Amino acid sequence: MIKNKLLFERKFGFEVWEKEKIDKVSTFSEGYRSFLSRCKTEREVVDFVAEQADKRAYKCINTITGITKIAGNKIYSVNRGKSIILAVFGQKPIKEGVKMILAHIDSPRIDLKTLPLYESEKLAWLKTQYYGGIKKYQWTSHPLAIHGVVVLENGQKINLTLGENDNEPVLTITDLLPHLAAKQMEKKLSEAVEGEEMNVVIGSRPITNSKFKIQNSKFNESEKDMVKLGVLELLNKKYGITEEDLVSADLEIVPAGKARDLGIDGSMIGGYGQDDRICAYSALQALFSVQKPKESILVVLVDKEETGSESNTGALSNFIPDFISEMLFSEEGKHDENLLRDCLSQSKAISADVTVAFDPDYKDVFDPLNTARLGAGIALEKYTGRRGKSGTSEAPAEYVAEIRNIFNKNNVLWQTGGLGKVDLGGGGTIAMFLARYNMDVIDAGPAILSMHSPFEVSSKIDVYACYEAYKAFLA
Ligand code: MN
Ligand code: MN
Repeated sequence: MIKNKLLFERKFGFEVWEKEKIDKVSTFSEGYRSFLSRCKTEREVVDFVAEQADKRAYKCINTITGITKIAGNKIYSVNRGKSIILAVFGQKPIKEGVKMILAHIDSPRIDLKTLPLYESEKLAWLKTQYYGGIKKYQWTSHPLAIHGVVVLENGQKINLTLGENDNEPVLTITDLLPHLAAKQMEKKLSEAVEGEEMNVVIGSRPITNSKFKIQNSKFNESEKDMVKLGVLELLNKKYGITEEDLVSADLEIVPAGKARDLGIDGSMIGGYGQDDRICAYSALQALFSVQKPKESILVVLVDKEETGSESNTGALSNFIPDFISEMLFSEEGKHDENLLRDCLSQSKAISADVTVAFDPDYKDVFDPLNTARLGAGIALEKYTGRRGKSGTSEAPAEYVAEIRNIFNKNNVLWQTGGLGKVDLGGGGTIAMFLARYNMDVIDAGPAILSMHSPFEVSSKIDVYACYEAYKAFLA
């Protein structure tokens, strides 16, 4: 039909995919869902990925000297426990360019301040500072968990996780009762809950240490900070830490509980941190499924995207070029800046990040033609940015054509996406930081609902479509 030939129409996986494929989708998304439940911080993702890589005979180049470039050889490197790059050597010389997929593994959340613990009104609280772009009001009156590490002065690292097991207590940020919220309800949403008010309740029982009571003759029940001391006593008993140790800690407050199947048909997944762990997971599985690639292929998982990609574990650190330089060394026997630049400028990349899914409850903010839909496959985005295309990397037509061709040849379910109406806002991804190396890069990832909220929504179709798309690109 002439119509089929001329029109480009969005297709939905549940309408066009065979039952056999839908079964694969279900199995795949089970793995994804348990990954989401287990990995709620960048460190937890890195630990999981390294563990999976070890199982598949990847060599950790942080722990070996000298890597050999043999096609099919697999390596990885971890940067400070918070970002990781995996690679499989291909047949072509590395200096002629590599293929890479980049995703970020940090998600919007609530961080603890450097000195977090205080007592007020016989309750112990933690002072926080939110990380990334959140709607603050979404994070109050929810069960929350704490995940992270405390590093002692002697360098010993202590893992601290609380609030995930059913028999463990959770934490929460309180909100005002509606009865007394008349003034609050009149405020703008952005001001209704203020950053300094996002304090986490962590205890209400005073210190119980009898030795302390006897030794401290001044002790009486009305003594100041007895509840704060009670919390410190517990932290000391359980983890061996003191208040000063909290200064050298990465402690993150995240929604407590597991990711879940969503909808009466279980066709979607609801859970925290899908931006951008959905891409991290599908890119990782894609990498694991490619055996002997032509070009060398990489999956790069970085931290700090939500705060602008700075810091030594973000996309702007030298970790990426340094890793590729190591790969080149294994081929050329020397570190050479020019070879590295040749390699980078001939490399091809997908910036794998989520985009917004059209939400019919908020029609006004979208251009319906240019917004991705849930369940219609991976969304290809020529550019992101805001207003007059500022703060973005735009893929040239040639590269868009190349990627479109790869997707079509491999029957990948894909659509296009964009970040809403031109004048309303927008956002950026790490694509622009890769573009600085003069490499070809384009954004491609799934569309999700309730992005940056404690409970983001994705389609199982899209998780699988991303896996197939990334696999097609890397193969
Ligand atoms: Mn984000
Ligand atoms: Mn993202």
